[in-house]
Amino acid sequence: MADKQKAAPGGQSGGANNQRPQGLRPSFWWAVLLALLVWNAMLLLPHSKPEARIPYSTFLEQIRSSNVSEVVITGSQISGAFVKPFPWAAPKTAGQPESGKKAAPKKYTHFVTIFPKTVGDPALMGLLESHHVTVEARDSTEPWYVSLFLDWGPMLLLVGYFVWMGRQASRGQAGLFGLGRSKARRYGSEYPKVTFSEVAGAGEAKDDLQEVVDFLQKPQKYVRMGARIPHGTLLVGPPGTGKTLLARAVAGEAGVPFFHISGSEFVEMFVGVGASRVRSLFEEAKAASPAIIFVDELDAVGRRRGAGLGATNDEREQTLNQLLVEMDGFDVHQEVIVLAATNRPDVLDPALLRPGRFDRQVTVPLPDREGREGILRIHTAKLPTAPDVDLQLLSRKTVGMSGADIANLCNEAALLAAKGLLAQVNMAAFDEAIDRIILGGARPALTDPNARRIVAYHESGHTMVAWLTPGTDPVHKVTIIPHGRALGITEQVPSEEQYNYSRTYLIARIDVMLGGRVSEEIVFGDITTGAENDLIQATRLARRMVTRWGMGSLGPVAFDSDEQQPFLGYELARGKDYSESTAARIDNDVQKLISERSEIVTNLLATARDKLDKLAETLLREETVDETLLAQILGPREQIAKKPAAMS
Ligand code: ADP
Ligand code: MG
Ligand code: ZN
Repeated sequence: MADKQKAAPGGQSGGANNQRPQGLRPSFWWAVLLALLVWNAMLLLPHSKPEARIPYSTFLEQIRSSNVSEVVITGSQISGAFVKPFPWAAPKTAGQPESGKKAAPKKYTHFVTIFPKTVGDPALMGLLESHHVTVEARDSTEPWYVSLFLDWGPMLLLVGYFVWMGRQASRGQAGLFGLGRSKARRYGSEYPKVTFSEVAGAGEAKDDLQEVVDFLQKPQKYVRMGARIPHGTLLVGPPGTGKTLLARAVAGEAGVPFFHISGSEFVEMFVGVGASRVRSLFEEAKAASPAIIFVDELDAVGRRRGAGLGATNDEREQTLNQLLVEMDGFDVHQEVIVLAATNRPDVLDPALLRPGRFDRQVTVPLPDREGREGILRIHTAKLPTAPDVDLQLLSRKTVGMSGADIANLCNEAALLAAKGLLAQVNMAAFDEAIDRIILGGARPALTDPNARRIVAYHESGHTMVAWLTPGTDPVHKVTIIPHGRALGITEQVPSEEQYNYSRTYLIARIDVMLGGRVSEEIVFGDITTGAENDLIQATRLARRMVTRWGMGSLGPVAFDSDEQQPFLGYELARGKDYSESTAARIDNDVQKLISERSEIVTNLLATARDKLDKLAETLLREETVDETLLAQILGPREQIAKKPAAMS
């Protein structure tokens, strides 16, 4: 019976979104049950032609009195017809009380009796002949399979039904209600096809995935070479970089069915349901092969086993085990590719990454400048954009954004344009959308003149240091209009992407961060809490320089290699991998670096005090000062372009 599982219809029939039957449908078994009931009822129901069940002796008596017209002999059973209807009542069973009124015995036209086979009756034929009874004999034995089926058929069906029930039940208590089926959505022709052309800036990932597409389209090419097909490919990258989009594009390019399920959907309340879902998902995909299974958010189900507690964890581990079993269970000819995506490859169970499973990794990084321009092009294609929209400039202003962020930015800009009743989405709308996304929406300007002055000098301090320090990023604009929690903003835009930072550049960044606070101190002889975030950022950067990049006075040593995953129980236990005295030296070093830079920045701003005042006054008057105006106030700036930043 178990083999029936595989009899699920294969092929490409059916459009999008259809759930494939898993094994035999429950409705089939309901039909069987109904048939059994009918069968039983028919056996119990009186025959349409009533027969008297008479003893053999009565039968002989009736022949002798010439009341039998014909007989049919089938094995040891003799049935026949009377000449005249014969009144017959079955003898009373012992112990049954005699009823008062005796009902008149029913009259029968037909009878049936049993021939005493063991005793035999050689005289019977002669007797029948002498009373001119028509005799018909029938072969008693039906073909063996018919009688076998008649005897055992109902029984077999009943057993089958119970086996099926039992299996459903063992697949998770809720099996009968279909919870055990995979919830995978199958995307076919109706689902909007995505192609690689709709994914920008993931060149290397696309190249790697092209191989998967190629295999799905021409499996023979690989099989002929005796190559083992890599069944599992893991897409790794930060959230929103287009991993899901790429997986869909692989299916779109190859033109094969796409089974999409998210790791978090696998993990359900009942133990065993997740595992059964994995099983049926793979069965469905194999039946539809060539096909793609896409497990999104693999980390939800694929976390290291043995980490964490409780029943949900058991469930997750069972699901993970089943996934491993299924991935091992592919044979060479099965053209099913499993793609998975995660942004936490570090937490995955190592067993998932072994050969034959997800042994290939495709990295999907945050887009670089060119990539962002491409993504902007894709997402502005649907918008009515004004001629002043400069995608290249926008791509520089969106450093660090993922594809999803950029898609969101384009939508935000369109919303703002609509709100402002613009005919087209212009550059101003994009600029506002960027501020909104990075810093939160603009808030009403400060009304207290004192507070405004402090903010103006604070931002001027950042801007001045950025303008006067060679090697740091150019300032794009500075404003004292509050955004989100920030009271003012100094926006720096790098003209180029950078992946590797020099000590000079990082120190210059610390200087710029400190500029706001130092300016307040020089001008007002006091400091406000507005510099809190600047200090946090500067200190964090200084600490990294010391502990990770060997840029402090402790020499080229890296401490604290892993500070990123504080929310996993088992990692909390690890703690620092250096001594208390080293910790003290690190703290010391960080402090020294910050105070050194603070002094240097103080000197820088004190010497250029006239320019600082001029900039602050312009800011108080104009609220926002852009690059062009800055050059007028501060003179031309030496540009060595680098990394992004927005300072408050
Ligand atoms: P992930 O799965 O990596 O978190 P998604 O694939 O869900 O990211 O991306 C979300 C959305 O962001 C996509 O639907 C698409 O609109 C947009 N997007 C992300 N990356 C890109 C890209 N490289 N090219 C075009 N659009 C992208
Ligand atoms: Mg995704
Ligand atoms: Zn600041």
